[in-house]
Amino acid sequence: MKTFKILPVLIAIGLYSTSCSVSKNIRASLNKTKWIHGAANCKQNKDEAIQVVQLNTNTWILRQNKCINYEAPFMFLFAGEKKALLMDTGATEDSSLFPLYETVAKLLTPTAKAGSRALELIVAHTHAHGDHIAGDIQFKNKPNTKVVGLNVEDVTSVFNIKNWPVENGSIDLGNRLLEIIPIPGHQQASIAVYDTETNILLTGDSFYPGRLYIRDWPAFVVSTQRLLDFATNHKVSYLLGNHIEMTTTPGKDYVTGTTYQPDEHALPLKITELAELNNALKKLGDKPAKETHDSFIIYPK
Ligand SMILES: [Zn+2]
Ligand SMILES: [Zn+2]
Repeated sequence: MKTFKILPVLIAIGLYSTSCSVSKNIRASLNKTKWIHGAANCKQNKDEAIQVVQLNTNTWILRQNKCINYEAPFMFLFAGEKKALLMDTGATEDSSLFPLYETVAKLLTPTAKAGSRALELIVAHTHAHGDHIAGDIQFKNKPNTKVVGLNVEDVTSVFNIKNWPVENGSIDLGNRLLEIIPIPGHQQASIAVYDTETNILLTGDSFYPGRLYIRDWPAFVVSTQRLLDFATNHKVSYLLGNHIEMTTTPGKDYVTGTTYQPDEHALPLKITELAELNNALKKLGDKPAKETHDSFIIYPK
């Protein structure tokens, strides 16, 4: 019964999200999660604009509805004792269609009105492409909120990366450390994010079940080796990218731009699949080529 006496206090000082002793346990099995996946007729789609899956007491995965934007990117929210970190802001600016700020504020302040939360919110990005930054505008000029810029310099500054891209950085949210691994290649400011609490490793658009668009081939090859080295030297619960474009049929992807994906591949990929990508890149050497694998497609641009 003591819990009932201390709980309001914890909520009041903004520690609600980290107060539970089971916070380190991941609740959701992401290999079985049913994500919203658009509709054959979007006019009749009744799904929420943003699906929220709670991974543990202070970690959430959000997915944008494909009927709002076909990219349907994932976004990730981590709360510590002092700060919260939102990785990515989705593909749509308009808060009436895509109420991301409101959704995040409610998650961080479950019992108070949005805007009165105690945690400082840092909004950063897995990389600077439009489908991951469009919602930034909703967070600008909001109280206790900082939106990180899109250049490499902005990223190295906020995550304290001394020597991009060969050294990692980190951010402490208050009794919760996240490590940041530079992985340029898909985009020049691409990073991976490792949460030491849940052990999830975010891989952005650099590694996900879909078309891995590679703009800087030599950088991508080096970054993939760096990411694999990190993943094999750390405990990883899930490798999580930013999109799903593959179907459950090995090697088969959805058509670009589709708003309906009823038979999606699971979001998490395996370290063995990251090793498969790394090996394939090594074999291709300095000759970029499209190559279809069961759960991803190497796609030089
Ligand atoms: Zn991208
Ligand atoms: Zn993307």
